[in-house]
Order: sequence, then structure tokens, then C-alpha cells
Amino acid sequence: MAQFRNFKMVDYVVYGRGSFNQLDEILAPQRKGDAPMIFLVDHFFEGKELPNRIPLRGKDKILFADVTFEPKTKQVDALAQQLKDEFGTVSGIIGIGGGSAMDLAKAVSLMMTNPGSSADYQGWDLVKLPGVYKAGIPTLSGTGAEVSRTTVLTGPTRKLGMNSDFTPFDQIVLDPELTKNAPVNQRFYTGMDCYIHCIESLQGTYLNEFSKSYGEKALQLCQHIFLEKDVWDDDCDNKLMMASYAGGMSIAYSQVGVAHAVSYGLSYLLGTKHGIGNCIVMNHLHEYYPEGVDEFKRMVDKNKIEIPVGICKGLTEDQFEAMMNVSLGMKPLWENALGKDWEKIMTRDKLRALYEKL
Ligand code: NAD
Ligand code: ZN
Repeated sequence: MAQFRNFKMVDYVVYGRGSFNQLDEILAPQRKGDAPMIFLVDHFFEGKELPNRIPLRGKDKILFADVTFEPKTKQVDALAQQLKDEFGTVSGIIGIGGGSAMDLAKAVSLMMTNPGSSADYQGWDLVKLPGVYKAGIPTLSGTGAEVSRTTVLTGPTRKLGMNSDFTPFDQIVLDPELTKNAPVNQRFYTGMDCYIHCIESLQGTYLNEFSKSYGEKALQLCQHIFLEKDVWDDDCDNKLMMASYAGGMSIAYSQVGVAHAVSYGLSYLLGTKHGIGNCIVMNHLHEYYPEGVDEFKRMVDKNKIEIPVGICKGLTEDQFEAMMNVSLGMKPLWENALGKDWEKIMTRDKLRALYEKL
């Protein structure tokens, strides 16, 4: 293994309010004969104005993606099969939505060319062939899915991403106007995903100057948006979109930490969604991130958000065991958070006590 990671990034980035209007122009050179572009759009936008602004040509198709639950390998496989049956091949997949719709688009693009099931590729560097052209257009800011080399999927046996050099988007369109009407709670939870990425990266043992530079900038933007602003305005949307990008770049060269490792267990067992799950856990991590957790709580208060409590009440012994197994399996996250001797610090008893508090 080489000492320094040589990582693949997104090829093209456009940023600006209204940049969505350039989509037709951006996609034109990517069209292959009459093979269609497929727009995988978050189902929230069904019947809204955004789909009418999508530059459809020829056999292009809009598919609304059900993101009630986080993406599953089965859902990815079914979408890819549907497209292969209908069109044979496509020019590209354009994911428009939050982290879920963007992850679906990345995964479906890869499964248009790679044989088998997406579940076969959950892990690191298992994907062998480039997918079809793919673009990501966020309508919620925070996950960093727009810049990452993974697409997080729940499969038959695990919740794990397809991490590979073929996973990042070829193009992203960062248009903060698209996040304008996001519901306050959802916007906060996904925004806190970004804030937590910063804390976990900046307090981690994997930190280097590359991650630190992006992490500090993203953190500063989050602090401004969630602590200094009294009303949410366009400036907040502009800044949060860049915070998400920079937070994603920060963890690309470091790793996330305790909140994510514990939250993965919740999500696997209880289906708790990523943003809110991270908030539920962060609320109880004072021992690991004292300043970050104090500040997080100030953000929760200032923005008048309720963070659920008591979600692990009444779980059985087996259920606690299952969550702990998923969580402790996230070795790089724990090592980043607590160092090489993390197993001595985060014992099963300690983790169990933490889950019981949630
Ligand atoms: P999401 O995509 O799951 O969407 C949450 C809700 O917001 C959905 O109901 C959706 O319909 C709605 N929504 C989206 N945009 C909206 C808008 N503009 N207005 C109103 N409603 C809108 O939420 P998320 O927090 O962005 O993404 C979470 C997902 O991202 C999880 O599946 C998680 O695993 C994944 N994730 C991926 C990465 C990565 O690097 N690939 C990183 C972090 C999280
Ligand atoms: Zn996250």
C-alpha cells in the first residue's frame, strides 16, 4: 500500500445560483447518439416546478426516486435492470436530490456496466469498470455525497458503500437556489452532518494539512450559518452548499469518527436516517468531542430543533449486540477518532452504555 492516498476527484464543478439552467449545455457533449440521459430525481419534486426545468431531449427520461428509506442494493439493481431492459444503454445518469438520490445515481451508473449485483461491490475498490457518465445536483446541503468516492448502500448483509475511483461524479452542479425550500428540520439535520464531518475530521488522528484546510473552512461556514444568523436567507443556502463541499473534501483525506461509527449501528438496526442519527449520537459525545458537542448543542437551541431521545429504549440483548457489531466493524472510523489503541478505549461495555443513553 502506498503511503499517501492518490484519490480521484469529481471532474467538473459548476457553482452558482441559477447554474442549473446550464444543464442542457453541460450535458450536450456527453450524449452518445440517441442513448438517453436519465434524470433520477428525489420524489419530493414530483409535481413541483423543478422537473419542468429539466432539459429533456429525445428519449430522455425522468425517474422519481423513492428516498423514504436510504438506498438499498436491491433498489439500485432494479433501477439498472429497468434501464437496461428499456434502453439497452444510456448516455448518463443525473442524480438530483439529497444524499440519497445522489448516491442512487452513482450506484445505478456503476451498475449499468459492472456485472452482477451492487451488493457484490460493497467494500473498497471492488468496482472494476467505469460506469456510464454521471452527474450530481444536490438539493440539500451537508452530506458531501457530491464529492465523495462512495455511495452508501444497505445490502442483504451490511450497510457499506461502493468505495472506488469509479464512484465520484463526472460533473456536479452546485446551485444553492435548489435548496431554498428544504424543510427546516431536514436542513438542520443534513447541515449538522457537515458540521459533524468537520469536528470528526479536525479532532481525528488522521488529520493532515489538506483535511485541516478544508475542515476549518467548512466549520467556520457552519458556525456562521447556525450560530450568527438570525434568519435563514439565500446567503445561508450559498454558504451551506460550499460547507458541504469543503467538509466532504476534508473527510476525503481523513475519516469520520465516533458519531458516524455509532450512528451506522442505529441506521442498520432501526433505519435511523444519516443526518438525524448523527445528531442523536452527537448529543451524547461530550467525552470525545467536548467543545464540538457544546457548540452543537448551542446550534440545536438557537435553531429551535428537537433531537429525539430514548430511541434505544426497550431493545433486546440481541439488538444491542447487532448494533455494536456493525459499529465496531467500522475500524478506520474508530482508529481515526481514538488512535491505534482504540479497542482498549471503546470496549463493548462502554459502547453498550453509550447506546443505552441514546
Ligand atoms: P436525503 O437525501 O435522504 O433526503 C432527506 C429528505 O429530504 C427526503 O425526504 C427528501 O425527499 C427530502 N428533500 C431533499 N431535497 C429537498 C428539498 N430541496 N426540499 C424539500 N425536501 C427535500 O437526505 P440527506 O441527508 O441529504 O442524505 C442522506 C443520505 O446520504 C443517506 O442515504 C446517507 O447514507 C447518504 N450519505 C452519503 C454520503 C456519501 O459520501 N456518499 C455521505 C453522507 C451521507
Ligand atoms: Zn455523514
